[in-house]
Amino acid sequence: MQKLTCRCGEILRYGMIPCPIEWLMISDQRFDEITVSDVRLDTSEMSNAMTRLLRCPSCGRLWVFWNGYDDEPAEYVVAAPRPR
Ligand SMILES: [Zn+2]
Repeated sequence: MQKLTCRCGEILRYGMIPCPIEWLMISDQRFDEITVSDVRLDTSEMSNAMTRLLRCPSCGRLWVFWNGYDDEPAEYVVAAPRPR
């Protein structure tokens, strides 16, 4: 099973389908391109068009696989709340 160790120490396992910590996202422009056209995509094709990210259930970090699972993911950390 594929796994990634989050900076907080949590082991993120993401090989299972469906995966509770994996999210799929798509840009608004790409979504328009594939849904406005006459082409009907099945769920597999739609899934392939998505960018995958993992959300750590412990610290909330996001690990985004911009270039697929073969490349290192980019890390996004939840910022501290802005002072009021
Ligand atoms: Zn974490």
